[in-house]
Amino acid sequence: MGTNNSKRKNKSKKSKKTTKKKTKISFKKARKKNFLPTYEIYPTIKWSQIRIKNLIQKKKLAPIFPPEDDPTETFSIECPICNYFFPITNMTNCCKKPICTECYLQIVPFGTPNQPTTEQCPWCRHYNFSVIYNESLRNKFENEILLSQEDCDQKLELEKEASKNEREEFEKQRSKTILKLLEIKKKEEEEGEYERLKIDQEKNEERERIKQLFREQKNNQEQIDKDNLERIQQLENMPRDPNTLLTQFLSNAGVMDLGRREQLLNFVLQATNQQQN
Ligand SMILES: [Zn+2]
Ligand SMILES: [Zn+2]
Repeated sequence: MGTNNSKRKNKSKKSKKTTKKKTKISFKKARKKNFLPTYEIYPTIKWSQIRIKNLIQKKKLAPIFPPEDDPTETFSIECPICNYFFPITNMTNCCKKPICTECYLQIVPFGTPNQPTTEQCPWCRHYNFSVIYNESLRNKFENEILLSQEDCDQKLELEKEASKNEREEFEKQRSKTILKLLEIKKKEEEEGEYERLKIDQEKNEERERIKQLFREQKNNQEQIDKDNLERIQQLENMPRDPNTLLTQFLSNAGVMDLGRREQLLNFVLQATNQQQN
């Protein structure tokens, strides 16, 4: 036992260094691990993992927790062998001292926790060392877990509610923005339509103006043509006296175009030839 004890102390010191970083493991994490062994205090253990798991599940042994260096509200029970704090431990049957599961597993190499063994109690040196897992402590601990779980659920619910409200607010703002954009677009389209109509109207007016101008020009030309024809007819009906024709021609030549002038000149020449013949 003596050699075992000193060995344990050395191992305990070594492991203390590594566990210090891990001391802030939460209840929730411990719960997630389903109270399964983490073996943080001693690097080796003689028991098989399956056997330990079984004993913990059958509530013959306390769950194994990541140990705390200092007592907290939850990790309030000190194991007097390893001096770590736990939320719950086993209890020696002989002298009713707390003992953590990892320490128990080091002292007793095999067997059933609540059955007498050949080992001695490390405190009262009583033979047939055995431990019992304290139900009332377990219940207390489970209640705390439940409470902390409830607290978590409540917080989660509140967070969900808050994010839902946020989401709703966001949706509201989004639909507002979309409506505004649609309105602007509609207005722009309406304005565009109005502009288009205005341009069409202007184009039509311009087209009408040009048409009117053509009509006027055509009428003018027709009038001019008519006037010229009348003059030609007047000349044709006149006596074929070359002198009179020439006078007539000269008096009209200024307002006639070239074709008409030539036509008239031919008449004059014809009339002169006829007279000479
Ligand atoms: Zn211990
Ligand atoms: Zn004892």
